[in-house]
Amino acid sequence: MKLDNYFAILSGKRKPKYLSADIDSLIEQCKKIVKSCTLCERHCGVDRLKGELGVCGVGEAKISSEFLHHGEERELVPSHTVFFSGCNFKCIYCQNWDISQNPEAGVKVPPEALADAVKGRFSQGSKNLNLVGGEPTPNLLYILQVLKHLNISIPIVWNSNMYMTKSTISMLNRFVDLYLTDFKYGNNACGLRLSKVENYFDVVSRNHRLIDGDIIVRHLVLPNHVECCSKPILKWIAKNLGTDTHVNVMAQYRPCYHADEYDEISAPLNRDEYVQALEYARNLGFTC
Ligand code: SF4
Repeated sequence: MKLDNYFAILSGKRKPKYLSADIDSLIEQCKKIVKSCTLCERHCGVDRLKGELGVCGVGEAKISSEFLHHGEERELVPSHTVFFSGCNFKCIYCQNWDISQNPEAGVKVPPEALADAVKGRFSQGSKNLNLVGGEPTPNLLYILQVLKHLNISIPIVWNSNMYMTKSTISMLNRFVDLYLTDFKYGNNACGLRLSKVENYFDVVSRNHRLIDGDIIVRHLVLPNHVECCSKPILKWIAKNLGTDTHVNVMAQYRPCYHADEYDEISAPLNRDEYVQALEYARNLGFTC
C-alpha cells in the first residue's frame, strides 16, 4: 500500500509537507486564480474576490461541521473531518446534498479559529486533518489561510472529487500529504448524466496521474454501473497507478436527493453487483 509518507508523519519520521511549503506564495498564487476562477475544470472565470459566484456557489468559506470522524478507513481514524459547504459537482444522488448543494449552509469561521480547532482536535488524538465537503477545492484560498496559522505535525488529507485544474493540483501537491479521492465514473458520459460535469473521466484520470503524495482511491459502486464505471475505473487504476494502490470499493449506495428520477440508480445497490465489482478488483490484484 502506498501510504508510506503518511505513516512516516504519524510516527514522527517526517514532517507534513505544509510545514515546509511557502504558504504565503501559495496564497498569492491562489488569489490570482480566484480573481477569474479556474480552480476547477468548470472554468467559471468569475471574480470571487469581488463576491461573484460560479457554478459551485462558494463565496466565503462556510463550514457545515467539524468533528473527530471514526467511520473513515482504519488508517485514518480518528480523523479530524472538516465539511465545507458547496460543491462544483451536481450529483443527482448526493448523500450530502443538504450541504453540497447549499453553499450558504454552515458558518463562517475565521482561519485562525479553525486552526485553533485543528490544534484542539489534535490534542484529542486526531491522526489527520481531513478536508472534505461538498468539495474542498473551491475553498482552497481559505484552507491555505488556515494552514498559515497551523504549526503542528499533522498530515493533510484532501478528500475530493478530483475535478481541479492542473495548476490547482500542482498547488495541492505542495502541501497535501494524502489524497482521499472519489473516483466515480469510468467514462465521460456517466459523469455528465449523473454529476453534470464535462469530460469527467479525462479530467479525473489525468489528475490521479498528477498526484504527488499518498493516495487512497474510493469507488462507490452504483447500481447498473459496474460494466460502464466500476470495471473501467479499476482497470485504469491497475494499469496506471498499480495494483498496490489502496482502493476502497464501497457498497453503501442508497438513493438520495434526485436519484428516484433516474431509473437505473433509483434503488439500493444489489449485493451481487457489489460482489462482482469487488471480485473484479481482487482478480486484477488489488488487496481490498
Ligand atoms: S471552484 Fe467554483 S467558481 Fe471556481 S471554477 Fe470551480 S465551480 Fe467555478
